[in-house]
Amino acid sequence: MPKKILITGAAGFLGSHLCDKFIKEGFNVVGMDNFITGTFKNIEHLSNSDQFEFREHDVTEYIAFDGPLDYILHFASPASPIDYLKIPIETLKVGSLGTHNLLGLARKKGAKILIASTSEVYGDPLINPQTEAYFGNVNPIGPRGVYDEAKRFQEAMTMAYHTHYGLDIAIVRIFNTYGKRMRLNDGRAIPAFIGQALRGEDLTVFGDGSQTRSFCYVDDQVDGIYRLLLANYPNPVNIGNPEEITIKNFAKEIITLSGSISKIVYMPLPENDPLQRRPDIDLAKKLLGWQPKTSRKDGLKITFNYFKTVLEAQLQYKNGL
Ligand code: NAD
Ligand code: UDP
Repeated sequence: MPKKILITGAAGFLGSHLCDKFIKEGFNVVGMDNFITGTFKNIEHLSNSDQFEFREHDVTEYIAFDGPLDYILHFASPASPIDYLKIPIETLKVGSLGTHNLLGLARKKGAKILIASTSEVYGDPLINPQTEAYFGNVNPIGPRGVYDEAKRFQEAMTMAYHTHYGLDIAIVRIFNTYGKRMRLNDGRAIPAFIGQALRGEDLTVFGDGSQTRSFCYVDDQVDGIYRLLLANYPNPVNIGNPEEITIKNFAKEIITLSGSISKIVYMPLPENDPLQRRPDIDLAKKLLGWQPKTSRKDGLKITFNYFKTVLEAQLQYKNGL
């Protein structure tokens, strides 16, 4: 019998790629989303698959689910800073109430649950790279607190279900991941910079651009998540690409890649924007035999071409062609 998996946030960037992966691996997938930051377009190609079923539902409301269920991936949550600043209460609710509902469902069904946590649980980290043992440096009442604290609560709640009820769990701490199906206007650095370069606009670097990030290509991220779900390890595991770059140099890379005449303009650094971020992936290497395979150069090329197609389609639509 094929295993059945519920994937929340299925119409979002990562959720839709996870639907593809689990279908490819022979699972029956139930995707759930309320479209608050996602779009049906991301899963439209699965409409005719007899391994896929979609339910429009807000996971902060009680989740009725008939029949057996083997696994849950809880990926529903806004993830881009401009999204969670726009919908702070929904962000807190999906990480807390939504997680509680999914943990309750997992317990009822005897299903294993993997929750999508984030490098943001480390806040503006005082150590670099970040190991899973680091407790983090988060401002609970700062603008990013709505996301960071929802995710920290989510981890605490999930661990409590494990220690108190013996629920089978996994916690992935995802570091900045990119690829096709991100929204051009979601405000994250990669779509923002690529969109600006494609339109010939200047690239908006926040602060002096000396803050760092480490960008992971989506296929590598999905492979890490897949391996973690099937492993037997309840504590958090970092999945990300440890190749670190300053945002200023990253913007320059995008300008070179695009061949654009765009320049860099500097804007104020958002409050509590982490100054450094790089995953320590030793645990993932040992536990899962996992490490990223896609170089930033290759991943960015694929992603750039994807956004180019999206932008061209948008322009054609606007011009009524
Ligand atoms: P996304 O915004 O593209 O996808 C999130 C999806 O969740 C959207 O389709 C949205 O409509 C859905 N959703 C939100 N609230 C919901 C609710 N109450 N009920 C049902 N559906 C709801 O974001 P993403 O980048 O795909 O992120 C997915 C998950 O991965 C999130 O939990 C995020 O915190 C985590 N994550 C992502 C990254 C990254 O770099 N992409 C990094 C760290 C963590
Ligand atoms: N950033 C930027 N210009 C933009 C968008 C983002 O300089 O137009 C910076 C942002 O301040 C942060 C980094 O790029 O330092 C990564 O931002 P993103 O929103 O992609 O992810 P996060 O801050 O959550 O890591």
